[in-house]
Amino acid sequence: MELLKENRFLLKFYETIEKFKLLENVKTVGVGYSGGKDSTSLLMGLHTLRETGKIEVREIIAITIEEGEEEYEREREKKVKQFTEVLGIPLLIKSFKERYGFTLKDMYQRIGETKPLCSYCGVLRRRMLDEVSKENNCDVLAVGHNLEDYIETFLMNIVRGEPERNWRTGIKTSKIEGYVPRIKPLVFMKPSEIEIFLEETGNIKYVYEKKCPYRSRSLRYSILNLIKLLERQEKGYMEKTMEKILSIQREQKQHYKLVPCEKCGYLTTKRICKVCEIIEELRG
Ligand SMILES: [Zn+2]
Repeated sequence: MELLKENRFLLKFYETIEKFKLLENVKTVGVGYSGGKDSTSLLMGLHTLRETGKIEVREIIAITIEEGEEEYEREREKKVKQFTEVLGIPLLIKSFKERYGFTLKDMYQRIGETKPLCSYCGVLRRRMLDEVSKENNCDVLAVGHNLEDYIETFLMNIVRGEPERNWRTGIKTSKIEGYVPRIKPLVFMKPSEIEIFLEETGNIKYVYEKKCPYRSRSLRYSILNLIKLLERQEKGYMEKTMEKILSIQREQKQHYKLVPCEKCGYLTTKRICKVCEIIEELRG
């Protein structure tokens, strides 16, 4: 296939999908689409492979979650609508407000900087993506985690004392009755490779760059800086670390058990899941 020979991003993207059987028996893919670089290139990559017949996916559905920071989201909405229209991909926009009854702004007013707001927001967003993709009969949910994100999250869970969070995840999560498996086709892509792809295809203009106004200079930020430093000191550090992480995850997965949350029934490692914990705290 000419296209794949000419485009390094698409070739690597396709090889990851094939090697890890990410789209095996998949008719409908939900895509977590924030409008940023990663999810824009993910959407573009899937669209291109489908258009050229390299993957047999029938439907791609973009899912955008509105956390509830109006000014930021109004601008973003324009971009995500434009791009999905260009590609001819259906777009679903769903909000925290309608699902949980509160917005990110409400969360900020209630807990401010006393709690890790980014991590609360992330937990709720992930759950919503799961639910929306299930409601829309997606066979998998694709998310735009790149190489840096993957390593960062792994280290973050360890530093925070929650290593078990690393065992339920992976490039593709296991198929469990009633749950939509999550796939990460960009896990071997460095941020620079993603940027080059978007520039070459002219799609950089659809990327919504502005950072969330509540984004804190959190632990995550420090860990990210550490990874960047290590990569500067030793070229290929991220790829090597990724290999090690994948082998640890494969090993640990076998010893790891999920139980249903006592409140909502969603599978979790604890008695009460994180989403129920957060909701209780915010409403209570
Ligand atoms: Zn729960």
